[in-house]
Amino acid sequence: MSDQELMQLAETARTNAYAPYSSFKVGAALLCSDGSIYTGCNVENSSYGASMCAERAAISKAVADGKRIFVKIAVCGGKVNTETPCPPCGICRQVFREFCEDNFRIVMKNGNSLFSDTIGDLLPLCFQKSLLDL
Ligand code: ZN
Repeated sequence: MSDQELMQLAETARTNAYAPYSSFKVGAALLCSDGSIYTGCNVENSSYGASMCAERAAISKAVADGKRIFVKIAVCGGKVNTETPCPPCGICRQVFREFCEDNFRIVMKNGNSLFSDTIGDLLPLCFQKSLLDL
């Protein structure tokens, strides 16, 4: 699955975003280690704190299906007709760290081109489950 193909799936998922308050529609497509793909879109709520990001929606769907190992995620979003990058928020980055190694890639758009960063670069020195000493 190429980055471009994964981004196209994220863009399709974005069309289902429910964002009546911010008009900031986001789509995500997550590639699992077994080749399966899960998509998500943001789902806002009138109680803003109850809103769900597209990335976490995709991760939650995958985890609910028993997936635990992820390769990369494509994320696109923004106001209508904007083409600026849509980097994941801090909460989503922390959720990625729960399941993903440093080399997990986040694919984003900048105009018509794609670029990616690793979660290791986007969330260094983060809180990790190993710190819980369970
Ligand atoms: Zn988020």
